[in-house]
Amino acid sequence: MAPAWAAALLSEVCADAGVAEPSLRWRRAARVASSGVTRWGAGTVAVTSGSDPIDQRLTLLHELAHWVAPQARRRRGRVAHHDAAFYGVAFGLYERHGIPAAEALAREGGRYPSSLRHARAMGVPGAETAWRERRVALRERARLRRPVRVLVPEHTVRLVRDGRWTRCGVCGVRIVGPVLVRLRRRSGRHLLLGTG
Ligand SMILES: [Zn+2]
Ligand SMILES: [Zn+2]
Repeated sequence: MAPAWAAALLSEVCADAGVAEPSLRWRRAARVASSGVTRWGAGTVAVTSGSDPIDQRLTLLHELAHWVAPQARRRRGRVAHHDAAFYGVAFGLYERHGIPAAEALAREGGRYPSSLRHARAMGVPGAETAWRERRVALRERARLRRPVRVLVPEHTVRLVRDGRWTRCGVCGVRIVGPVLVRLRRRSGRHLLLGTG
C-alpha cells in the first residue's frame, strides 16, 4: 500500500495536469535510495521506496513527470526520455511540490548527469554551478584515465654525453641528479613511459 502522502501527491499532480491518475504500486526496500518505473501502456507508476523521505518524494515526482509529460512525446506506450521537455516538467514538479532546488540537482544529477544541462538551461537555482563542477570533475577523470603506455621497453641504461647533459643512449631520456649518480656507480635498467 502506498503511503497517504504519496496517493495525495499523485492526485494533486494529475489534477493540475488534467490527466487521469495511474494506479500506484508501492513497495519498500531495505536501502536508502528509491527507484521507480512508469508503464504508460499498463497505466501504472511503481515505486520501490528506500528510507530517505526526500528521495521517496523526488522519485514519485520523477515518475509522475513521465506520466504527465505531453502526449506527443510518448511512443508505443513507452514513457518520454529524459530530454529537455521531460526535465521541464520534472524540475517544475520538484519546485512546486517541496523538493529544494539543491536536493533536486544533487539527486537527479547523480542518477542522470544530463539533467544538469537541462536544469541549467531552465535557470534552476544552483544548476549553473552544479553543471560547471561536473564538467571539471569529468575533465579531471578523463585526464587520470588517459592510458600510460610503454614508449620504450625496459632496457639497460647506457649513459652517453650530450653536450652538458647525460642521456640514456637507448631511449634518449635525459638523466640527472641522484639517478645519474647512482647509474654512474652501478648499471641499471629503466623503461620509458608516456601518454602519447
Ligand atoms: Zn525517468
Ligand atoms: Zn633508456
